[in-house]
Amino acid sequence: MHTFETITDLQTLLQQWRVQGQRIALVTTMGNLHAGHLALIDTARQHADKVVTSIYVNPLQFGPNEDFTTYPRTLETDIAQLKQHPCDALFLPSDNEIYPRGKKAHSQIYVPQLGEILCGADRPGFFQGIATIVTKLFGIVKPDVAIFGEKDFQQLMLIKRLVRDFYFPIEIIGAPIQREIDGLAMSSRNQYLSAAERQIAPQLYQQLCELRGAILSGSGAIAPLLIQSKIKLEQLGFRITYLTVRKISDLCQMVDNAEQASDNSILLAAGYLGKTRLIDNIKL
Ligand code: AMP
Repeated sequence: MHTFETITDLQTLLQQWRVQGQRIALVTTMGNLHAGHLALIDTARQHADKVVTSIYVNPLQFGPNEDFTTYPRTLETDIAQLKQHPCDALFLPSDNEIYPRGKKAHSQIYVPQLGEILCGADRPGFFQGIATIVTKLFGIVKPDVAIFGEKDFQQLMLIKRLVRDFYFPIEIIGAPIQREIDGLAMSSRNQYLSAAERQIAPQLYQQLCELRGAILSGSGAIAPLLIQSKIKLEQLGFRITYLTVRKISDLCQMVDNAEQASDNSILLAAGYLGKTRLIDNIKL
């Protein structure tokens, strides 16, 4: 696996691959790799000849009171894991390489509506930071295909929109959520959970599964079912910021009735358990 810290060095190799006619896939990550990330790399390999993985904890997507400084950085173990996987190049840029004039002086990409709801409402500026870094990495790598996890479903939809709006010649592929044995969606932030919180955390997915069952077997308004689930989760110790059913094709559109809910709907949840922010989703 080739490792690069500068854009110029990475692009020299990418250019050679392109001349050889190789199809290039990009997997963007913030490191602290787990089986969810590695599954994206395996998917990337199925769609391309060469796989580039980036590890960059992007300061632009963190709010002032968020975990940018404490975000787990585990480069040595990440590299060891990548060597066991079909990754051809690892891009490890510094802040200076990405934002040479400082992050405040850098152009930013703003995705209205889709970027302002759900996680965008909970975390102002978050999707602007995501859209900016992903656009930048697309510009640097110019991949033929890029893989994103369905765990961050809104992010996946936002990137698809970005690619459509700007005519980026990049195929975007979503990869299924990887879960722990007890159902908890894998996330680098799970390690913030205390032992007691870790026991409770899978209940988020459990509730989503129960809700899906209740919606699909019921009729009429979905809101009472959502309220009941929210109460159950809050009794367990969660502070839920959203629990909602949306149209997959347009997350801005709520699905209010069981009759409207079908395989074009998705149940999305976010909340805090202690200080840890967890998100999850399940298609109906
Ligand atoms: P992150 O390092 O958290 O920014 O995530 C990098 C990529 O990995 C994103 O496309 C995420 O959606 C994806 N990802 C993170 N966790 C999971 C998971 N449990 N299952 C599938 N994809 C994931």
